[in-house]
Formats: sequence, structure tokens, C-alpha cells
Amino acid sequence: MDATFATGKDLQKMDPVFGQLSFNDHEQIVFCNDKDTGLKAIIGIHNSVMGPALGGTRMFDYANEWEALNDVLRLSRGMTYKAAITGLNIGGGKAVIIGDAKTKKTPELMRKFGEFVHGLSGRYITAEDVGMETKDMDIVRDVTPYVTGISEERGGSGNPSPVTAYGVYMGMKAAAKHKFGSDSLAGKRILVQGIGHVGETLVEYLTKEGAVVIIADINEEKLYEVGNKYGAAIYTGADLYTADVDIYAPCAMGATINDATIDKIKAKVIAGAANNQLANEDIHGARLQERGILYAPDFLINAGGIINVYAELEHYGKAEIMTKTENIYNTTLEILDYAVANNITTHHAALKIAQDRIDQRKLENSRK
Ligand code: NAD
Repeated sequence: MDATFATGKDLQKMDPVFGQLSFNDHEQIVFCNDKDTGLKAIIGIHNSVMGPALGGTRMFDYANEWEALNDVLRLSRGMTYKAAITGLNIGGGKAVIIGDAKTKKTPELMRKFGEFVHGLSGRYITAEDVGMETKDMDIVRDVTPYVTGISEERGGSGNPSPVTAYGVYMGMKAAAKHKFGSDSLAGKRILVQGIGHVGETLVEYLTKEGAVVIIADINEEKLYEVGNKYGAAIYTGADLYTADVDIYAPCAMGATINDATIDKIKAKVIAGAANNQLANEDIHGARLQERGILYAPDFLINAGGIINVYAELEHYGKAEIMTKTENIYNTTLEILDYAVANNITTHHAALKIAQDRIDQRKLENSRK
């Protein structure tokens, strides 16, 4: 449809919002527009049964608005399950700002975004994600208390990425124990795709333990820097999905496990930080299971960041943050065992346990 409005049968066919696949039972979607600052943002609140929806803001130069909408919906739903599986009393939400963070992000734009967040009166609490930094959250904090991930000087928990990396490391060790019978990563060949904020710290943990780490990134300068710093090899092949490794750690963008890549993957374990790694949760989760590749669910093992910012709401310190994050090891083992016992994919096992918790809480809330 062009700029004309659909009528009659056309309108029924389109289902422009509630019928969209990625809409997936979202409670609320807020479109934020401000001409003066150029802000175009979308806030998605997927589920608030467990508490206010908490999730980061991503700033990205999306090809179009549909892509941005789809991204925020997928990400906010992921946050619901991430919080529930981790045992946090928060719901799932996320925000995206459309535009290149390097050229379009200004203090005025961040303030305006903060005002929109404030308008939701705490139903949504923001934090940083790709394209955002602690200092951006400090600007948001000037106009609303509904923000986490602010700087330590302002009483915040600071940069969540090292904590996320620690959680991914714990989840990877648990997956190794399940698959190889030992959680030692010494001597294991591990491909880390994306050596940004999370990936680099993960490389540090892995090389310290004696793993043979191979790194890939589109940023060549960073590849040489991280390669030299930690003694990691740089992937030089034509197609990294064919790499002969024990473990593949996606730490760049989502949906890298898709129709084009899935049958090439030689790794026995997939465990990484990226959100929404499976392009299609059902099809690709099942295919990995068929191929005997153990997938550590992304939203389970990358929860360190949310544990870190959640500390700002619950007022606990670094030691407790790290203990809770370390527990990702135990939760991962439980989920992997549960998947085997019930003959379901690991992704579905994690979703099921998270959903059961949400349903239980809903029941308790209705009795209050
Ligand atoms: P980042 O932007 O700091 O790093 C991403 C890295 O991936 C960059 O170095 C970039 O050059 C590289 N990259 C981008 N496209 C690539 C490609 N096609 N091939 C190879 N490399 C590519 O992001 P981050 O904070 O490290 O987060 C990494 C992933 O983990 C993201 O998917 C993010 O959503 C997820 N995640 C991050 C956190 C956190 O605490 N930062 C928490 C949970 C999940």
C-alpha cells in the first residue's frame, strides 16, 4: 500500500500492528518523534508481569522504520525471558533510536529521549545497548529517574559489558561441561565473532584459561590490537562459519545462525553474547539439535549486563553482581539437562522455564 489507506478486505489482510509476527503479545509500543532534535525512537514494552520493563536503548542506522520496529520487538521480547530466567523482578522492554550514533547522537537528542521515557512514569526503565555509552545514560538521568547503567560517579553500576562477558564465559564453561564432560576450556579452539565491548573481555577470559582463541571482526584495526594484546589468532579464511573450531561465540550482531550458515557450522557448541542468535527460533533451534550442536541460549548466558543494571534498582554491590552472574553456570547446566530430559531444544527449554515463572507470577498477582 502506498500512502493511501487500506479499506475493507485489504485492511483485514494487512494486520499492520497486532497481527505482525514479531508483535508477539507486546503490551505497549510507543513511537517518539521530535523534529527539533531529529529524534525518532520506538519503545517496546513486551511484558510487565514480573515488574517494570527494563532494557537498553539501541541507536542504529536502520535501513527503514520496519527494520527498526522489528528489532525493538524482538529485543524487548528477549528481555522478558532474560529477566525471568535469571530470576529478576523486572519485565521486558527495549528501545531503539533510528540514526547513526556516531553522527546523529547529540546531548539534546538524548535529553528528549529521556523526556519520552519519563512520560511512561516508570513502566519502562532504560539502559545502554549498542550505540550508547554510560555518559548518554547520565544525560537521560538529568530528566528522568527511570534509567540505569549510569556512571559510577553518579551512583550507577557503570559499564555492563565486562559483566556480560563474565556471564557468557560462565555459560560457555557450563555448555562445555555438558558437551565435552569437562568445563575446562584449556586447549579448546574457540572462534569469537565480534571483539567489541563484550567480545574483547571474553577473549581475555578465554586466553587466560589457555583456550586457542580465533577472532573475527569487521574492524581490522581492532583485530590487530586485540590479537596482539591477548595472543589470539585472527581468522583469515573466506567463510568463518566453516571454521574448524570446538566452540563458536557470536558476539557481534544477531541472526547469524540462519538458513545460509547453519549447515556449515563445524563447532560442537555455540555460546556467545549476541542477542537473538537464531534467525528462526523454532527451525534453527531444531536443526542445531538434529546436528548435535549444543546451543547455549543467548538470553540465558548474556544476562550479566541486566544483572549489573538491576543492581541499581535493588541497591546491591559489585560482589553480589558477580556472584549472581557466576550463577549463570548453574542455570545453564540445569536448562541443558532439562532439554535432554524433555527432548526439546535448549532454546525451548529456557523459554519454557521462563514462561512458567511468568505464568506463576501472573496467578499470584491476580490473587492479591
Ligand atoms: P559492540 O558494538 O561493542 O561490539 C560489536 C563488535 O562486532 C564490533 O567490534 C563490530 O565491529 C563487530 N561486528 C559488527 N558486525 C560484524 C560482522 N558482520 N562480523 C564481525 N564482526 C562484526 O557491542 P557489544 O556491546 O560488545 O555487544 C555485542 C553483542 O552482545 C550485541 O549483539 C549486543 O546486543 C549483545 N549484548 C551486549 C551486552 C552488553 O552488556 N554490552 C549485553 C547483552 C547482549
